[in-house]
Amino acid sequence: AKALGRDRYCFFEASMNANAQEQMQLVHDLRRALDRHEFVLMYQPKFDAVSLALTGVEALLRWRHPERGLVPPDQFIPIAEKTGLIVPIGEWVLDEACRQMAFWRETMNAEWTVAVNLSAVQFGHADLVEMVGATLSRHHLDASYLMLEVTESTAMRDVDNSMLILDRLTDMGVRISIDDFGTGYSSLLYLKRLPASELKIDRGFVRDLATDAEDAAIITAIVALGRSLHLNIVAEGVETEVQQAFLTRLGCGSLQGYLFGRPMAPEQIAEAALAPSSG
Ligand code: C2E
Ligand code: CA
Ligand code: CA
Ligand code: CA
Repeated sequence: AKALGRDRYCFFEASMNANAQEQMQLVHDLRRALDRHEFVLMYQPKFDAVSLALTGVEALLRWRHPERGLVPPDQFIPIAEKTGLIVPIGEWVLDEACRQMAFWRETMNAEWTVAVNLSAVQFGHADLVEMVGATLSRHHLDASYLMLEVTESTAMRDVDNSMLILDRLTDMGVRISIDDFGTGYSSLLYLKRLPASELKIDRGFVRDLATDAEDAAIITAIVALGRSLHLNIVAEGVETEVQQAFLTRLGCGSLQGYLFGRPMAPEQIAEAALAPSSG
């Protein structure tokens, strides 16, 4: 019995080590990924709920790992945040998204916005506002074409600091979107003061709205609240026509989800802009 226990212990320890080792390897690879140009951005379209015109695209980060293949953000962004690597990676994302948007402006006279996700770690970084300003000037991109998506929980973490940063960004002309809305704990007072132009209803509520009366009620309340605060409401994760009909009827301004388009290469966005479709 003792021997068995020891074997088990050894087995457990070995698998722990394998896991820790794998994590270390991942951190090691992540440090080199920027230099090796292994990151790419995919863009997911947002469409006007009524006209189905393209109103924006959201940049979503992908890591093309030489051995592991495509690594989704959920598998490396938490590590990047823990190690601080999210700061240089986030700078690259913003630079690349602005470069691409400036290209669309130049070649297609694009009128949509490009949205970039910000991590709470970047949000706590002192130079964020300057970095955003410098990136826009480097690409000669007007600030009104850039939207920054900040999750509700990030925005509410340190409210005074958030207000300060968001005010400075909006003064510059950048637009703010409150992402994953409904999953954090906004006070209505702060929501009123928050200089945002968009609220994104979290996918979790959209998923079950046809079958879950409570989710449908929450969405109805969010849309009513957002509209009374003159915010554009975006629903993310729209996968079915039933969801589309429900959200459009409520007065959601924009829709985003697999029904309309998955995250795609920038060349495909140009096509989506010319030929809007409802999937
Ligand atoms: P998010 O900002 O909430 O992005 C939406 C996620 O939902 C994306 O996953 C998108 O591909 C997925 N999605 C969109 N429509 C549908 C749908 O109809 N059905 C389903 N099932 N999923 C849908 P993705 O690209 O894997 O990104 C996951 C998360 O990683 C993002 O959630 C965001 O929090 C984070 N992320 C992605 N890119 C960046 C980045 O550049 N910087 C930072 N800080 N975070 C990022
Ligand atoms: Ca987002
Ligand atoms: Ca979201
Ligand atoms: Ca979400």
